[in-house]
Amino acid sequence: MSVRPEIENKLEKSGGVISELNKECRIVRLRIPGGIISPDQLVAVGKAAKKIGIDTVHLTIRQTIEIPHVPSDKIPGLLRDLEKQEVFLGAEYEEVVNITACPGTDRCRFSIIDTRNILFQLDKNHHGRDMPIRVRIAISSCPNGCTSERASEIGITGLRTPIRNEGLCTGCGTCAHTCKEKAIIMVNGSLHLDESLCVNCGMCIDSCPFHIIKGHPPRYMITVGGRRGRHMVQGRELIVVDSEEKAVAVVERVIDWIYRFAYSGKILTDQMDAMKFTDFQKRIQRDFPASTTE
Ligand code: SF4
Ligand code: SF4
Ligand code: SF4
Repeated sequence: MSVRPEIENKLEKSGGVISELNKECRIVRLRIPGGIISPDQLVAVGKAAKKIGIDTVHLTIRQTIEIPHVPSDKIPGLLRDLEKQEVFLGAEYEEVVNITACPGTDRCRFSIIDTRNILFQLDKNHHGRDMPIRVRIAISSCPNGCTSERASEIGITGLRTPIRNEGLCTGCGTCAHTCKEKAIIMVNGSLHLDESLCVNCGMCIDSCPFHIIKGHPPRYMITVGGRRGRHMVQGRELIVVDSEEKAVAVVERVIDWIYRFAYSGKILTDQMDAMKFTDFQKRIQRDFPASTTE
């Protein structure tokens, strides 16, 4: 069977096909946003790999699957089999690569924001987009940061800020005991919040048996320019916005800014000043005026 033109085209242009030690073979990286895959799709990956004699696949740290040691001439057939179950080729090089996300409100008790909605919107509109540099996007539903979003080119973190509510604090100290940052101390039998230590995880909010602590609505912190690897750098805070819609819109602006101003061959962290990050931040803050930086 001949190879469909769109598959040939993908093989030529996409970073999802990666060279490996054995020059006769390639690693095939899949597109699995947030590592979310149906049971049928998972079985399809296993069957397709087995069909061409591959006995192990690799679950990567960026929530995707790589099929290693694939002979080059077997790749089109492999991709055809996978596409029947809507499993598609991923991205690796100077592109928007597999977007990672924690489970968020789907199942984590610490969650603040719905990571899935953001994940699928960004994946649909941007996965595999050609860029001057590799762009990793990661989304964590709370400041615990399970996806290491601040070590990614673009990070989104859910925040929930506590506020003191009307009512009689009994001084039981449950909230202070819950706060891992020591941001709550008891003063004269009543809670005192040190905002400079608070990371906005919101854990104290639900801990108070008397509902003295309430939470502001969820917010979304966007960070830019993080990197992992041997010299890890945390991304800089760009803005904090108060809706999912704005968070997606800001990320789209960041992607566009990187596309227009970044140079190839240099990671984002090392060229943000040359790209005039501060001016970009001012424009974003002007266009999203109700939002803040932390
Ligand atoms: S980042 Fe927070 S919400 Fe997401 S999995 Fe980790 S602890 Fe749960
Ligand atoms: S939101 Fe988190 S860090 Fe801030 S006071 Fe509450 S528990 Fe502590
Ligand atoms: S848990 Fe509630 S009642 Fe207890 S110290 Fe904290 S705010 Fe006061």
